[in-house]
Amino acid sequence: MISGDTFEQAREHLRRNGQDPTLNRILVLCALAESDHPLTARQVHERVLAEHKLNKVTVYRILDLFADTGVANRISSGDRSFLYCARPGRWRQGHIHFHCTSCGQVQCLDKEGLPFDANALADALPMDVENIELRLDGICLKCKAGRNITGS
Ligand SMILES: [Zn+2]
Ligand SMILES: [Zn+2]
Repeated sequence: MISGDTFEQAREHLRRNGQDPTLNRILVLCALAESDHPLTARQVHERVLAEHKLNKVTVYRILDLFADTGVANRISSGDRSFLYCARPGRWRQGHIHFHCTSCGQVQCLDKEGLPFDANALADALPMDVENIELRLDGICLKCKAGRNITGS
């Protein structure tokens, strides 16, 4: 079940980005918000279906709209498919992605607590920075653990 908080934050996030907060859009956004990693359109569809009947084409259309209007991030996953993620109520100015070069998983990272100052970076540039997307490449915790076991 979607929590009331997530639902409200999703509604607010849509409004802030100039989108009508229709039920379908809110449900798609909630599916993204409740995942700690970016999802494929198919995964989003499966999660929404658990709550509400919605056809695949509608989900794809909503995800395109989200990506084009800045409601959600669209990330290339490398094999020509896209991953989507959104963090309403948390990182207003985008967030950080960690891409594992071993298993290919992409994770959304909480910017809080990391020594990265988005405002300082934006202030240091003469352009108007509206969004910051940071991508880190490396070995994820799971793969690291696997390597340590086989390496010892
Ligand atoms: Zn990995
Ligand atoms: Zn993300």
